[in-house]
Amino acid sequence: MIRRCICDKCGKEFKIKRIKKKLFRDGEDKVFFEYFECPKCRAKYISHVSNEEIKSIVREIKALHSKKMDLLKHHRGDQRELDYHLEQIEEQSASSKRKVLTIQSELKAKFSVE
Ligand SMILES: [Zn+2]
Repeated sequence: MIRRCICDKCGKEFKIKRIKKKLFRDGEDKVFFEYFECPKCRAKYISHVSNEEIKSIVREIKALHSKKMDLLKHHRGDQRELDYHLEQIEEQSASSKRKVLTIQSELKAKFSVE
């Protein structure tokens, strides 16, 4: 899948052909960055940031999603009870996603792919 994008710095429109990877050490932890470059001015854009903590939160979010699918498929009985459970799952999953975004922005502030 090739995405098109416009460089914020020089305005060139280009296709993202190659995602580059960079690994940092953060104490005991490893931090993975994925980024791409503008072919004209070499400006770098980060497309993904991850570490062990983020990976484990993402696993939680996936588990919550399958729990939700399970509930929708198998729940019998009270609709309000089902709604309550679904709402709980949504809240947990939204808070986990916020946590991921927070950690990612901390990592972006701490490490640079430049
Ligand atoms: Zn550029």
